[in-house]
Amino acid sequence: MSDKKVRVRFAPSPTGGLHLGGVRTALFNYLFAKKNKGDFILRVEDTDQNRYVEGAEAYIIDCLNWCGIIPDESPVTPGQYAPYRQSERKSIYREYAERLVMQGHAYYAFDTAEELDKNRKEIPNFQYGQVYRDGLRNSLSLPQHEVDQLLADHTPHVIRIKIPADQTVSFTDMIRGRVSFETNQVDDKVLLKADGMPTYHLAVVVDDYLMKISHAFRGEEWLPSAPVHLLLWDYLGWKANMPQWAHLPLILKPDGHGKLSKRDGARLGFPVYAMNWFDAKTGELTPGFRELGFLPEAFVNLLATLGWNDGSDREIFNIDELADKFSIERISKAGAKFDFEKAKWFNAEWIKKVKGERLKVEVRKVLADKGVIIKDDAYLLTVIELIKDRCTLLPDFYQQSAYFFQTPAEYDLNAVKPKWTDEKTDFFNSLAVMLNSVETLVAADLETSFKALAEEKGLKTGDVMLPFRIMLVGGKFGPHVFDIAALLGKDETINRVEKALVAFK
Ligand code: GLU
Repeated sequence: MSDKKVRVRFAPSPTGGLHLGGVRTALFNYLFAKKNKGDFILRVEDTDQNRYVEGAEAYIIDCLNWCGIIPDESPVTPGQYAPYRQSERKSIYREYAERLVMQGHAYYAFDTAEELDKNRKEIPNFQYGQVYRDGLRNSLSLPQHEVDQLLADHTPHVIRIKIPADQTVSFTDMIRGRVSFETNQVDDKVLLKADGMPTYHLAVVVDDYLMKISHAFRGEEWLPSAPVHLLLWDYLGWKANMPQWAHLPLILKPDGHGKLSKRDGARLGFPVYAMNWFDAKTGELTPGFRELGFLPEAFVNLLATLGWNDGSDREIFNIDELADKFSIERISKAGAKFDFEKAKWFNAEWIKKVKGERLKVEVRKVLADKGVIIKDDAYLLTVIELIKDRCTLLPDFYQQSAYFFQTPAEYDLNAVKPKWTDEKTDFFNSLAVMLNSVETLVAADLETSFKALAEEKGLKTGDVMLPFRIMLVGGKFGPHVFDIAALLGKDETINRVEKALVAFK
């Protein structure tokens, strides 16, 4: 690698919710920057006014914050290359487009939208390019005086790149190696639109140059645009400064057939967006990983493994470990299948891995949403520690812990009633008396005396353990029953036993 400072950018267009592939692109940029002590820049590519969606930029920034992928420079934390929103850089681009016209690498095109539509309809595979451009209304086909007049009259026009005929343009992709394109396949892309806004093609090249971007990671879907960008870097005289590109493999549908889309998520019942996205125009809410109950640690971890591994079997990494291990050589060329079951596995692993303290805010919210009031913070923490290994998604904390905060309203009666006997009633009455006589419940002591009492009453421990659990929990789940009783405390345990006895008889 050259000694040029590493500067990478995530350059999303604020057009809606952020697909997990977009977050992975941001992540790989970030990891590469951190690994190489470089800068990670967020640049908002909002030059397409038709696709601009209010609120999408703030949403993207929220997503990055949630994931801990924090930019060094961004529209909200600008650095020396401000502004970081392309719409605010509008005045910068015209000069470069005009320079290309002067040099003969670009031209003015006056065709109206209707004229272009007509051509598209009438000419199969119509492309604005070397085959047809001479017959269209542009500064290459029209006489100079007519062009001058049209410009003097402020006739709406765009500036298009003049793609040369019969050339091969190539570059070395950091993941794919040498990639070549035939210019005959490429059309004369618009560089500057009639409203004076640059298109993505011009803006991305100018900004990568001006912002001194050294490496650019972007999705594979941008590969077909590369020849246009390569020619622009060349024509603008900046070839030596061109960033090294890495086109990241696609994230594929679970069956491996094609790119994972928002629709696949809806069809298969899992999110593809990082966070919930509400489209104010259509009123449609697209679910996100965050709201479904993913931890950002797990989300980041699972994204990193879509198309990358560290060369070992290890799968669990935090973001700093990822930055430390990250290497482009270990990014695969092939697309990565998305597996939602595996995604959930990552979340369960992360819930197990983090300290209870880390989960407090999220669990408190999950419980509050269900109307569970938590008075004692230390108690909440103990509960979390006791049950977190049983939770896959954050909302599972409600199902797994509600009984610690409220007496069960219902019991799994099918599990107890058919086998209920007077002996069992007697056992639990005696248990209540025994519980009353101890100062505080200690799980191990309780277990010993519970078993002794069962023996004394001629019952198998197993026959009274399950009813005891159902009395405390309501169902056949949860951690060790004596741990539950100890945590509930003496009074509450007695209350629950007495209340359940009425229901079980
Ligand atoms: N604005 C493009 C996008 O929305 C950025 C592509 C690139 O990184 O060059 O993904």
